[in-house]
Amino acid sequence: MINKLLIANRGEIACRVIKTANAQGIKTVAVYSDADKNALHVQMADEAVYLGPSPSKESYLRGDLIIEKSKELGVDAIHPGYGFLSENAEFANLCAENNIIFVGPPASAIEAMGSKSAAKSIMEKAGVPLVPGYHGDEQSEAVLKAAADEMGYPVLLKAAAGGGGKGMRQVWSEKEFSQALNAAKRESMASFGDDHMLVEKYLTRPRHVEIQVFCDPHGDGVYLFERDCSVQRRHQKIIEEAPAPNMSQSVREKMGEAAILAAKAINYVGAGTVEFLLDEDDSFYFMEMNTRLQVEHPVTEMITREDLVHWQLTIAEGKPLPKQQNELTLTGHAFEARIYAEDPGNEFLPSTGTLCLLRTPKENNVVRVDTGVVEGDEVSVFYDPMIAKLVVWGENREIALKRLISALGDYYIDGVSTNIDFLKRVASHPAFVAAELTTTFVEKHNDSLFAPVASASKDTHANTPTMALLSLLTRKVALNNKTPSVWSTAGAWRSNGIHQETLTLLCDQEEIGVEVKHLQYGNEPAWELTVDNKSFKVSGKIINNTLEATINGYKSTFSFSDNDGVFTLFNKDTHAKFSVVLASLGDDNSDGDDANFSAPMNGTIVAHLVEKGQQVKKGDPILIMEAMKMEHSIIAPHDGSVEEFYFNPGELVDGGATLLAFSTKEAAEV
Ligand code: ADP
Repeated sequence: MINKLLIANRGEIACRVIKTANAQGIKTVAVYSDADKNALHVQMADEAVYLGPSPSKESYLRGDLIIEKSKELGVDAIHPGYGFLSENAEFANLCAENNIIFVGPPASAIEAMGSKSAAKSIMEKAGVPLVPGYHGDEQSEAVLKAAADEMGYPVLLKAAAGGGGKGMRQVWSEKEFSQALNAAKRESMASFGDDHMLVEKYLTRPRHVEIQVFCDPHGDGVYLFERDCSVQRRHQKIIEEAPAPNMSQSVREKMGEAAILAAKAINYVGAGTVEFLLDEDDSFYFMEMNTRLQVEHPVTEMITREDLVHWQLTIAEGKPLPKQQNELTLTGHAFEARIYAEDPGNEFLPSTGTLCLLRTPKENNVVRVDTGVVEGDEVSVFYDPMIAKLVVWGENREIALKRLISALGDYYIDGVSTNIDFLKRVASHPAFVAAELTTTFVEKHNDSLFAPVASASKDTHANTPTMALLSLLTRKVALNNKTPSVWSTAGAWRSNGIHQETLTLLCDQEEIGVEVKHLQYGNEPAWELTVDNKSFKVSGKIINNTLEATINGYKSTFSFSDNDGVFTLFNKDTHAKFSVVLASLGDDNSDGDDANFSAPMNGTIVAHLVEKGQQVKKGDPILIMEAMKMEHSIIAPHDGSVEEFYFNPGELVDGGATLLAFSTKEAAEV
């Protein structure tokens, strides 16, 4: 029985495991490093224990310390998640020695799959189909080259100890062999301290299809169908889906059975994934087995409606598999998109920073967001930059894909660069829509996936009325609440002496002038904006960093963030970053008119103290308004006259509204 579970991991997978454990009434213990003191997984768990400084080696990889803390806290089982200690045979042994259940396979199974060549030998004996190739111990160049010549080019050289695509080289002809072998060996030695090589037939248009397997300690095993993970960048998965499109039931069954054969060959127990390359002629070949729960397990959960963490915990308790093969069904289609803090335009370089705006699509039974962060959290240099996994389900691939694209459109992040726009491009690419998937998808469609966005200034102008509206509304909120902000500066607004004011926005290094005319001050203030001789009637309101805008009668909703006066505005079609150019005091009046005729807060006009056009002296009170039970006078800044009162006595005004237009000209003429 597992009563108390320690999750030796962080981020989304720690949160994911805690959810199921909570649902099953199992007490949870989180572990954390300095960087994760306030992390979501720490908050979600019943207890949390500190491991050490932020680098993984000093915290999440401290197997000895994790065991020590587990014993102190009376933990029955440890779930390693993925990465970190999940495929560490030594740690699995350490758990066993200390009478703690390791929620994963036996150490011997982890070891068996640790080397690609040893794994291939085991699979060969078990009758699992392998990519034609050489995986023997004899490592002379002559032997390796003879193997390559015999199978025919292209071939792929792979490091036996490899992972993450390192120590891998394609060889397209006999002539290139020697050089490629030396390069692959050097890379492998540098990364893994070992230069043992495999030679494989290089498949030019394969798909990466993997099978989810589960085995119990009583010798039973089932497969929970497949996932297609062909769309990759740098040999890392970006979008995964289940089932694999266009895969026939007979290939599915054959591959599933081959995966079970592979698992049984190493006396596997628990959740595992057997990865295959699927060729165009439907032949498939074993690539490797991952002895843990995979990042992309949610797509399998969506199509089988099973909770794989629940399965893991059940098996870890020594119980039989929750279901037999004939009880498992595949329903509909699911996608997972990995949301990363990275810059696709700069070779997917990880990005770090504070998630100052984080809006996720609404979750329901067809849209799921697995994440370990909340708004305000830091994406640090210490860990994997994955922010979340967006998972959707549909009755078929077409419906699921529409949901994916729509949900990606509702994902807004500011503070770090993300791959969200890139994911949208992949998901809506005609070849992806048509399910023309191969592992070279991103390379093949490089030009269209990375094409520059439509001219920034064109987009800018399309967004100008919304940007101006947002500026106007935030000014109003700031003035009403008396919040210190860019708007507290009286000179922020140019009063040009007539019935209008000018707002200057800075977007993509371009200054955009907007003429603003105030129309109405009620629950929903309205303005008339003129940009490039085009007018727009705009109104709207702000609710919790959401802007509800009506522009020329069209309503739309945006999320936005305000970073010290730099605004970012998002919705499905828009992503605009801009700021407001603040006029310095007296900027637009040569005679130094620094007057501010804005209402300081919401209130009522009490009286006009002068007539329109009547000459007044500098310092004369010209209007009284009442707000918060106090009267406030507006004083003439210079000799001159009131050109226009925009509100009559008794009328309500909103904070920030311009109350009157004042002119100094006539006084000068007299
Ligand atoms: P690693 O362990 O370094 O990630 P894998 O053996 O899992 O390496 O392969 C990673 C990716 O490389 C696969 O998903 C596939 O895209 C590609 N690949 C591997 N072997 C072959 C092959 N024989 N032919 C073509 N592509 C291959």
